[in-house]
Amino acid sequence: MTAALSQPPTIMPNPTGASPALAQWFAAKAAHPDALIFFRMGDFYELFFGDAEAAAAALAIALTARGSHDGAPVPMCGVPVASAESYLARLIRAGFRVAIAEQMEDPRAKRGTKTPIDRAVVRLVTPGTLLEEGLLDASRPNLLLALAAGDETRDDLLLGAAWLDISTGDFRTSAVPSADLPALLAGLDPAEILAAPGIALGDWAARRAPEDAAPPPPAAARGAIAASFAVASLDAFGHFSDSEAMAAALALAYVRRTQAGALPHLAPPAPQGQRGTMLIDAATRASLEILRARDGGTKHTLFAAVQRTATAAGGRLLAEWLAAPLTDAAAIIARQESWAWLLATPRLAECLRSAIRGAPDLARALARLSLGRAAPRDLAAVRDALAAARAAATLLDEAGRDGEAAALPPLLETVHAALRPAPDLAVRLAQALAESLPARLEEGGVIAPGFDAALDEARRLRDETRQVIAALQHDLAARYGVSGLKIRHHAQLGYVIEVTAAAVAKLTDHPDLIMRQGMANGARFTSSELADLDRRINEAAARAMARERELFAALVAETCQVAEALAACAGALARLDVLLAAAALAAGGGWCRPVIREDSAFRVTAGRHPVVEAALASKARFVPNDCDLSPERRVLLLTGPNMAGKSTYLRQNALAAILAQAGLPVPAASAEIGIVDKLFSRVGGADDLARGQSTFMVEMTETAAILRQAGPHSLIVIDEIGRGTATLDGLAIAWAVLEALHTEIRARCIFATHFHELARLTVELPRLSPHTMRVVEHKGSVVFLHEVIAGVAGRSWGVHVARLAGVPAAVVRRAGDVLAALERRAAGLTTDAELPLFAAAENAKTETAQPPPPLSPVLSALTAIDPDQLSPKEALETLYRMREILADAAPSEGI
Ligand code: ADP
Ligand code: MG
Repeated sequence: MTAALSQPPTIMPNPTGASPALAQWFAAKAAHPDALIFFRMGDFYELFFGDAEAAAAALAIALTARGSHDGAPVPMCGVPVASAESYLARLIRAGFRVAIAEQMEDPRAKRGTKTPIDRAVVRLVTPGTLLEEGLLDASRPNLLLALAAGDETRDDLLLGAAWLDISTGDFRTSAVPSADLPALLAGLDPAEILAAPGIALGDWAARRAPEDAAPPPPAAARGAIAASFAVASLDAFGHFSDSEAMAAALALAYVRRTQAGALPHLAPPAPQGQRGTMLIDAATRASLEILRARDGGTKHTLFAAVQRTATAAGGRLLAEWLAAPLTDAAAIIARQESWAWLLATPRLAECLRSAIRGAPDLARALARLSLGRAAPRDLAAVRDALAAARAAATLLDEAGRDGEAAALPPLLETVHAALRPAPDLAVRLAQALAESLPARLEEGGVIAPGFDAALDEARRLRDETRQVIAALQHDLAARYGVSGLKIRHHAQLGYVIEVTAAAVAKLTDHPDLIMRQGMANGARFTSSELADLDRRINEAAARAMARERELFAALVAETCQVAEALAACAGALARLDVLLAAAALAAGGGWCRPVIREDSAFRVTAGRHPVVEAALASKARFVPNDCDLSPERRVLLLTGPNMAGKSTYLRQNALAAILAQAGLPVPAASAEIGIVDKLFSRVGGADDLARGQSTFMVEMTETAAILRQAGPHSLIVIDEIGRGTATLDGLAIAWAVLEALHTEIRARCIFATHFHELARLTVELPRLSPHTMRVVEHKGSVVFLHEVIAGVAGRSWGVHVARLAGVPAAVVRRAGDVLAALERRAAGLTTDAELPLFAAAENAKTETAQPPPPLSPVLSALTAIDPDQLSPKEALETLYRMREILADAAPSEGI
């Protein structure tokens, strides 16, 4: 989460009596009071007053003063223009917004006059409207989200949401019930949010933009959007609710404001409808570690485990697919068909992969181009991406024709059709751009030699004259008899003759030469001949530069004209990348194409947890497990000791649903998934280290959210709720929740619990299927097999886990004694029937009650001795005796 938006101090000095340049600064500040003003002064951006103090502190750069205002020095700090991007990045990350005030005319034009150079704010840099490569994370979308409150419909308040990524041009809208807003925010993870003060943003409040976010009324909103995309009516783009249109218009107006009136290339807004994607709330995303792990990193995430993409844009799209699994079976199957087709044509897939590997980030280059903020390498990115796309298109041309493979599935056909946009532009860029390009246009050499005759001529003159000068140095040395004579270029004087002190006398009286500068160790002279050459070089260089600028601008304009087709091509490349990645995943073995169903089936055979599996030491093997949540057994109750693999099992099945509905392969031998509309994953407080103190409260709040939102098509995994409170409370709550899930909500559910008593509920709850983790007791120690089997755990094995964890032997031994005593007492003196909760279950059926397991012979022997009474020799003998007992007994299985 980014830092809260930092605001520069609001106490403003009095602007009256400001110098002309400062007056410009005051005007910029008045227009953008929430932003730091980057005020261009030659090669620096300078900051003044409170801005300077805030920025100097945030950037750890020197705070100085420049001139004075109102009788006091003006605090000032500055950053070089050439490296401004890295400073900007740090300020934005620290939560600032920055308004960039540029010089709007050539400073030379005003040289010697008192009028200041004209300056204007050309850009407001905010977290949600970034374009520069250095400010963006190549692997993630950077979203601006606008929210508008709509009409009350039924009892739901429907919010309009519009989100866009100006770095790629992606633009979408949706109508969301306000109860689903947290899930939407969690899914989008927007960098910046525009919302009226009345819309509560909860955990995301820190990302609210300080702007007044009042959207225009519906009719005006529709008109503004239609005008932006030059269409008569919005209907062309699909159906928008009023609030969606309002939100979209709000977002557009904001983008315009940040780009000083210009609108970047954006796709027309695409309404997502209300039911397009699986609802996954923030707690679920955090617990399943889909894109981000608990520790904030990305290494141990679902994304990292399935990431096989070859380009940055492909990586972003994969993240988007995982963050928003689909609920439309046809759309899911379309994705599956495409990667399955690629899987069946491995040679072609390999060629496609090498064609797109390293393709530049076309979408982001395009966004910079369309805002006139392009560097030469952005055009090169278009050129190289088009070449990669064309290569991929050529490979797909032949596909399906040779009879070797079936015809392209529809989604790949769409990709194929978009891969060859603007053939003329591709040719032109290939001819026009030089092989290796400078970082900035001003450095020259962007346009290839041979592309433009006028440019070639200007460059020839410039370079020839330089050669003439080199020859002249030789001549002059001979003419004046000074062998060490040099012709040098001097910033102010232009070309000069430079000689050492000893030779100065030979030149001083010469009528052709004018001494311009005497120095301790020599002197500099100019001549009309040199001045003439100097002028010719300058003119030729200026002509070359101007011509190069012109050609560059023309190429940019030509590119922008086909922006839409190029954007579609960028999207197609990303999609192809993700589909190839999915095929690669499936080709690796152990991943299947799940069967997608409209009913509420859920069957996974030999499923695995991709992240836990990847983290296992190479020799340890992940134990696959089945999961069947068919309607007659839709609530799976899982008991078993700590560390046996319960949490892993729960999450691997939730992840299977996400992967399946994202249209991706699932790590299992086979899977049948009935579409999940909402997915919930909750982890009990005791397992959740990232939480604060009030874990039980959090746990209950989250449980309440599930009970209110889940329905018969939902999938719920609950991990040990009720741990954060006293045993009986916890048991009672877990009990009630389980009953509600089973009988009222009727969702598919996996419920892990350490309350083994809950397994008795099978009598009242016919769709409850008790399972446990198989554990083997071997030679007095416990072995976790990580295998899920039908049944109920006999005991907790907590003492064994304590031993594994390195608790000192004496304490473990003592705990074992206490446990044995407690178990004996539980069997003898107390019955479960004394707890009112269990009365019903006891009366109905007692079979499922587990008698306490008999003590193993070793344990009996152990309990019989008093270690304090043993001599060392006796202790050793006891140890040998126990080994014998163990050797006689076959390994006994603990349930
Ligand atoms: P629990 O929730 O029962 O305490 P976890 O699911 O946290 O157990 O698993 C504990 C550890 O056991 C994991 O970190 C992993 O190393 C290992 N583990 C879990 N499931 C498996 C499995 N199916 N195969 C192999 N190792 C597993
Ligand atoms: Mg656990």
